[in-house]
Amino acid sequence: MPRADILVYNIGELVTFHRGPQPRPRPETAGIIRDAAVAVRGGRVVEVGPSSLLRARYSAAVWINAEGRLATPGLVDAHTHPIFAGSREDEFEAKLSGVPYSEILARGGGIYRTIRATRRAGRGELLRLLLGRLYKMLAGGSTVVEVKTGYALEPKIELEHLEIAGEAARLTPQLLVPTLLAHVPPRGEPREAYIARFLGAIREAAARRLAVYADVFCDRGVFTPQESAAILSEARRAGLRLRLHADQLAYIGCSRLAAQLPLDSLDHLESMPPENAELLARAGAVAVLLPTSIMAMMQPERPPVEALRRAGVPIAVASDYNANNLTPLAQTALQVAPYILGLTPLEALAAATVNAAASLHLDRLAGRVAPGARGDLVVWEVEGYRWLGYEWGYNMAAHVVASGVYAASWGRLLASVS
Ligand code: FE
Repeated sequence: MPRADILVYNIGELVTFHRGPQPRPRPETAGIIRDAAVAVRGGRVVEVGPSSLLRARYSAAVWINAEGRLATPGLVDAHTHPIFAGSREDEFEAKLSGVPYSEILARGGGIYRTIRATRRAGRGELLRLLLGRLYKMLAGGSTVVEVKTGYALEPKIELEHLEIAGEAARLTPQLLVPTLLAHVPPRGEPREAYIARFLGAIREAAARRLAVYADVFCDRGVFTPQESAAILSEARRAGLRLRLHADQLAYIGCSRLAAQLPLDSLDHLESMPPENAELLARAGAVAVLLPTSIMAMMQPERPPVEALRRAGVPIAVASDYNANNLTPLAQTALQVAPYILGLTPLEALAAATVNAAASLHLDRLAGRVAPGARGDLVVWEVEGYRWLGYEWGYNMAAHVVASGVYAASWGRLLASVS
């Protein structure tokens, strides 16, 4: 009798997804299996099949009865900034009373305030904060998390933040994907001088394998398309993969960089002209949309979802967890995506799993349920994918398995695990 570490059985509806990306997810092509079971061993899925068959075939250390509910791949959060200290709740109130972000910045607040607090925090404190945030993410079903730096600015300290991400990766069953982010140009140093020093950090991060990705905040008042291209070209030469914060606050041509650089993802896109969707499609890039960031920024603009759909651009959603948007769950982004972006429940689910994995070049390993893929699975409180976003507003992950480890549950542990 084959052994499994974990057997999840009695799954009413299992959405497996085929290997991504999925530009137009439909129920007929989502790999939906009824009355299913999933066997996990050694951190990987070993078999997916009918519940009664796998129950009879396997002996397992842990049995999880899904009680007829929905199960999906673990969520992939493809855009987070979780390495920082301090908070800005007073600025939240100021924003609500009509103070523009530019004025908050002029008062020394906003991102520069988080950078000061982060620099004051010790390494152990930052690791503790990061692990606490990752645990919340895990409890919400995020089994793969992209982790950006960007709150140090000083290139040497940015590298230390990548080391902290590496330490956290050894302490969680989640797969972490570290990204070195050029976040904002520092004040009081010529931009060219700072960029030259940042390029040094990129080369070192690549040589020491501290980062997988490089990213730049390309926008009005931040880095220009020319500066972003220079930074990302150097990152590519050094062997890093590329993603880009593009067209969030204004359109200054950032998403056009998809035509000239091999970007795995372009993120935000609230101000992208719809005609640029064709450009993203030709480049094979994923559009990573951030609905809770739109809420936190209190922004009226929306990314051109219909143009992205028509062009066949795969859409991902992510939390954009950061000091200005304290929503740790990719699940929340999934839940509000129908309301903020107009995604269907199946589009939102694909966006938080298979397409998010594709945006991180992980579509073989994550974002789907198939033999050989990571042993990542979420059993939800609801009975089918149509309920995702229809019912919402609480943590709907009943059971979370990450890398073959029973990672988290909300209340169902005693009832259904033996
Ligand atoms: Fe971001």
